[in-house]
Amino acid sequence: MDTMRAVLFDAPGLPLRLADIAIPQPGPGQVLIKVHACGVCHTDLHIVDGELSEPKLPLILGHQIVGKVVQEGQGAIRFKGGERIGVPWLGGTDGTCRYCVSGRENLCDQPIFTGYNRDGGFAEYCLADERYCFPLPDGFSDLEAAPLLCAGLIGYRAYRMAGESVKNLGIYGFGAAAHIIAQIAIFEGRKVFAFTRPGDKTAQEFALHQGADWAGDSSQPAPESLDAALIFAPVGSLVVSALKATNKGGVVVCGGIHMSDIPTFPYKYLWQERVIRSIANLTRQDGEEFLALAPKVPVQTDVTTFPLERVKDALDQLRKGEFVGAAVINISSM
Ligand SMILES: [Zn+2]
Ligand SMILES: [Zn+2]
Repeated sequence: MDTMRAVLFDAPGLPLRLADIAIPQPGPGQVLIKVHACGVCHTDLHIVDGELSEPKLPLILGHQIVGKVVQEGQGAIRFKGGERIGVPWLGGTDGTCRYCVSGRENLCDQPIFTGYNRDGGFAEYCLADERYCFPLPDGFSDLEAAPLLCAGLIGYRAYRMAGESVKNLGIYGFGAAAHIIAQIAIFEGRKVFAFTRPGDKTAQEFALHQGADWAGDSSQPAPESLDAALIFAPVGSLVVSALKATNKGGVVVCGGIHMSDIPTFPYKYLWQERVIRSIANLTRQDGEEFLALAPKVPVQTDVTTFPLERVKDALDQLRKGEFVGAAVINISSM
């Protein structure tokens, strides 16, 4: 039996372990992918920490996968052998629930998520339903393309929810998603105000380098009022900070899958048609739009790479905010 190296998550509190396991065989409609690179996401941390219930166990994490199709299952005809594709967080839907039939497959009642209830990309091979994969634009290396698949794509959904009339955009938490979305916002003529962990001068300099008009501590007031704010840090108190900084009618978009509790706040912060909303997952349409836009900007992703045996270090460093931009596991990129 052919085997592959994979990083397995057994349960919250247990260390991730590198193991040799059987290479999976593609079922109907699936492709087997030789993984070149896989991005690391805050959601991976939430799963490892037990903050998201009911992952498949044991589980291969990782949902920003770039790789090459090496085998097609029965009826899988969308991609040619050898073609480079991307696999995102949304790995499947039922196609029949009230959300799927109304163009909101991101909210599907019976979704399959890559690296959560199906094995993901911290491994040499993975399976994916071909209908939920994306062709990837040329001009991005495997390592550069990986963060587009969640940080970019779900960040883009959050950004679109901020509305069309935004001039001043606040971004709270300047990591992988923010550094991509800031470039798009600036490309579309908006001013970006970046809020980081207090005292994180490295992230603030990085934000200015990405073209932000201003960067400072999230504990500081905004230097100008904001028309909308995106929150990518999993810190509930930022919702209140962002509301206070936001103009009438402004939208505060929570981009993460998990957040600490939001403190109580006076109604006047919400009054005047301000909106707080979350965004969940992605639709395939989000992916197609974003992957068409990214090369036009062109988005440049700043990646810190780790080998497969150092997934744990990548997660630890993400938790502590020890690198700028995005972390990517380099499995066999060229
Ligand atoms: Zn993610
Ligand atoms: Zn559905």
